[in-house]
Amino acid sequence: MHPGGQLDTSERPFVLIWELTQACDLACDHCRADAQPDRHPDELTTAEGKALLEDAAAFGEGQLVVLSGGDPLVRDDVSELVGHGDDLGLRMTITPSGTRSLTAERIEELADAGLKRMAVSLDGASAATHDAFRGEEGSFEETIRAVEDAQAAGLPVQVNTTVCRQTVDELPEIRDLIEDLGAVLWSVFFLVPIGRGRVLEPISPEKADRVMAWLDDVRQSSPFGLKTTEAPQYRRVSLQKQREAESASDDESGAGKPEDGLGRRSGIIAGDGFAFVSHVGDVYPSGFLPESAGNVRDRPITDIYRNADLFQSLRDRDELRGKCGACPYRNVCGGSRSRAYAYTGDPLESDPLCPYVPEGYDGPLPWDDPATTPGEPSPSD
Ligand code: SF4
Repeated sequence: MHPGGQLDTSERPFVLIWELTQACDLACDHCRADAQPDRHPDELTTAEGKALLEDAAAFGEGQLVVLSGGDPLVRDDVSELVGHGDDLGLRMTITPSGTRSLTAERIEELADAGLKRMAVSLDGASAATHDAFRGEEGSFEETIRAVEDAQAAGLPVQVNTTVCRQTVDELPEIRDLIEDLGAVLWSVFFLVPIGRGRVLEPISPEKADRVMAWLDDVRQSSPFGLKTTEAPQYRRVSLQKQREAESASDDESGAGKPEDGLGRRSGIIAGDGFAFVSHVGDVYPSGFLPESAGNVRDRPITDIYRNADLFQSLRDRDELRGKCGACPYRNVCGGSRSRAYAYTGDPLESDPLCPYVPEGYDGPLPWDDPATTPGEPSPSD
């Protein structure tokens, strides 16, 4: 920790995700993992997984670990792994697929093993829209039932939602549903086109800014927490809103401007507060930036996270290129490194979903090239 109590993200991630398996019964249109029906023969074994958790515990007490997939419940050692992580002082959470494998008994078993939170996906506010998005009839009902079962087992629930052209108009209804369900956190993921996510249509950068401004209002007025994934420019949008509100009011007090503190690195982006371990042990800066910095079978996760060149360069905001490199918000934002990589092959390039152009910047812009332009403005934009 830094002296002020802030987590030092050069030493440990806020979030460590372990993709237990790519196997899943669903075949969602948007699957990052390109999920497969069968488990990969080279997946980390139970013993290797336990060794990974022991290494992760060296990050420090309370390290957050998310077990993801595919569907992590395809493996029958999940509760054993949750229990092992909990005994080590890790904060164990899970993102199962909304399938019939997510029974009340399974949820109770995970809660008894020490699970701290369960995340489910809701990409529509009704069975018609959610099931169409996930390509599986009955998924909406299974998900709602799983939320109720988790709450009956005393587990707090997080809801994950993908923002893209197919879902964006339903966000207000999804927000209301999340409140009705009593979820503790809404995690809003802005599409990165990798895996099967390539078949989905991103929204335009201008629309993304308007959605983020709306989410900032939702955060301030809702009983649940809200975070964005692969959209760190949410912090720039929020600061700009504060600045506008301040300049609209009498500013005679001489109070500090919201831009104060832009030099201090905050928030998390791929490789800086975030790390992902694949089903075969490769370590990526995020699940949406599949560039390996090493394998946990060869090096402890702590060593890869702290010392691998890829992770170190992602933590140095002065290494960013294009308009992100010239941006005064780069320390509080930094852009989605995963989206930059998906569009350009370079994780240090500009995030194409951000419409902000720094004052005086006259270098190349993502929308100069159709290949790096996410989503044409539509009539509804
Ligand atoms: S230009 Fe880059 S660093 Fe600046 S706000 Fe946009 S995404 Fe963030």
